[in-house]
Amino acid sequence: MRRLVWLSVLLVGFLATAPASADVVIYRFAKVIDGTGNVLDARDIAVNGGRIKAVGNNLDKSVSGQVVMMEGLTALPGLIDAHTHITYGLSHYPDGNAWEALGKIERADRYEAAKVNALKTLQTGVTSVRDLNADGRLDFDLKAAINAGEVPGPRIYTSGPGIHPFNDPLPDGTETATAEFLAEAAAKRVAMGADWIKIFGTTGSASDLTSRAYYSAEAIAAAADAAIKAGKRITVHTYGPEAVDAAIAAGVTSIDHPVGMSAAQIKAMASAGIIYVPTIDHNRYYAQHGSEYSYGADIQAGLRVFVGRNIETTRLAHATGVMIAMGSDAVLSGFGENTCELKAFVAAGMSTAEAIQTATVNGAKLLGEDANLGRLQPGFEADFVALSGDPLSDINAITDGVTVVMKAGSLVVDHRADPAQINKPNCGALY
Ligand SMILES: [Zn+2]
Repeated sequence: MRRLVWLSVLLVGFLATAPASADVVIYRFAKVIDGTGNVLDARDIAVNGGRIKAVGNNLDKSVSGQVVMMEGLTALPGLIDAHTHITYGLSHYPDGNAWEALGKIERADRYEAAKVNALKTLQTGVTSVRDLNADGRLDFDLKAAINAGEVPGPRIYTSGPGIHPFNDPLPDGTETATAEFLAEAAAKRVAMGADWIKIFGTTGSASDLTSRAYYSAEAIAAAADAAIKAGKRITVHTYGPEAVDAAIAAGVTSIDHPVGMSAAQIKAMASAGIIYVPTIDHNRYYAQHGSEYSYGADIQAGLRVFVGRNIETTRLAHATGVMIAMGSDAVLSGFGENTCELKAFVAAGMSTAEAIQTATVNGAKLLGEDANLGRLQPGFEADFVALSGDPLSDINAITDGVTVVMKAGSLVVDHRADPAQINKPNCGALY
């Protein structure tokens, strides 16, 4: 019941506060921080038709428009979560086996749960996500409904089903995927309309922390070639270093998850311009929510050890200079905790400004949207987060202080009148 009330409050807010597109609205903040982590000499952001029209001081003197006070709040660009599973959802999360429940749920209920995940994502200040593995066209349908304004949620960059032995069973009588087979698998995703091609390069997921290669370097290169020729971006999932060399050779855009990369691998990624998406925090989430998944104490301990290894690899990657993007790898009840990853990044040695960049300018670069998202600049999408604290002095201002969220010129979250509604995830005690 509490959730129903909460959702209806949110929906009313969503519908009532979208300004007519012709009107200029000037939002006045206490402080404006750009996606670079720099404090701008500006307190006002003027928005018109879903785009940022101007950023500066006293804009009401030069631009005619209504001034809306964001009293005491600090602006950041709308955040980007570079790794989600927004279609993995249940209506409730009892003790037991959430994966089994997910496998049994009807498509219509999955879709409703995905809509809830979309709302919870906005509550964290995330206005764009790259979603990496969905079945039944759930991601395409949710994206279309959000783009049509029918459902509140972040911009979704889709992958459809990731390339994986489960999704792409080998023809009878064959034991390894050929280059032709994997190129054909990529072509299928292109034909479906996916924005991204995701290749599961290795095992490793949830309680399984192994990293055994599924595909040869030749096969991964062939899939990447097919994707690149079709104008798509590619990412490779690898839990350890096993598929990293193949991914670099294939010219992918990003590599997701890996612990234990060597300094040479990280340097090769950096010189190839490949972005690292460490996804540290999802294993903290699985350990902390072990009862939802029937993960016992031994599994939880293993997950926490893996978090430590992931932090150390991120520390080395950051020190080496490879670009890093924030990806939560959120599933199920992990939505609403999307930005806990930033706390892990600070624990791995980033400054707060560098952590902000992972979820703004770096995420935009990953998406190929660096002229459109991730900055508070004229001409960019009018996406901002207004926080009740200073994220440069305390990264918790992002996890616990999201008071207002604008996406494409519409206020999709607004807790100014009732700060008790502000999302405050329990990011655990590991960082
Ligand atoms: Zn994932």
